[in-house]
Amino acid sequence: MRLAGALPGPEALRVRGLRGSVLGGEASFRFFGELNDFLPPDERQRPLLRSFRGRPSVKHMIEALGVPHTEIELITVSGTSVDFAYRVRDGDAVCVYPVFESFDVTPLLRLRETPLRTARFVVDTNLGKLALYLRILGFDTLYSNRYGDAEIAGISSERKRILLTRDRRLLHRRNVTHGYWVRSTDPREQIEEVARRFDLVGLIEPFHRCLRCNSELRPVDKSEVEHRLEPRTKKYYDEFRTCPDCGRIYWKGTHFEHMRQELLARLQGRGASDDPDRGC
Ligand SMILES: [Zn+2]
Repeated sequence: MRLAGALPGPEALRVRGLRGSVLGGEASFRFFGELNDFLPPDERQRPLLRSFRGRPSVKHMIEALGVPHTEIELITVSGTSVDFAYRVRDGDAVCVYPVFESFDVTPLLRLRETPLRTARFVVDTNLGKLALYLRILGFDTLYSNRYGDAEIAGISSERKRILLTRDRRLLHRRNVTHGYWVRSTDPREQIEEVARRFDLVGLIEPFHRCLRCNSELRPVDKSEVEHRLEPRTKKYYDEFRTCPDCGRIYWKGTHFEHMRQELLARLQGRGASDDPDRGC
């Protein structure tokens, strides 16, 4: 939609830019891979036409379509990568890609210098089981069921932690740059989803972190903790660690290992998700 000549007098001045060019128009947006999860079913996997007034940023228009900026790794316009601040022009064909390893985007500019896969997390209040699983696998994970939205967003941005949430609105907050909307509602599937998304398998370190307070465990001689052990534990286990903060004792039993093996089996059991289209 071109406005040239359509609006006389002061109204025309209002919609003209500093350089006198006519503002507003229509652009198409094509979302790839898992970004389609954020769109209504009838809008997935196809170009979406959107008209606009003025010169909105591409970030603003993408978020208005329901896709949080934290999910995005790359945006191109006519095959050239642009950043979030890019001002959309009439006729632009915008392609938006998720953080997804199987897209080869290396020749193009990514939106962030550092990949999103730094494996430190802050987990939303209703994902306690997921937080526990992450700690079992050794990942630095902050969690409290008392976090408020502003607090959890602040922790994510100030302490550079990936925010994991089931609440998409939280990811729209301006200060949240590293976040992920967890799709599944089942904790076992959630840990698989997060491990796959952030490529965590090679980083798993079970028997490494306190499940209660997230602190790194310290090795301790059996003789130092013997008096606190149940007879069976004393009999069958020899390797122990303690939490420097709460004093809880951990031993290298089957629990951690089972969890790791199960996750690996799940990840290997299913291939990477198939994407019907590979480019724009
Ligand atoms: Zn502890």
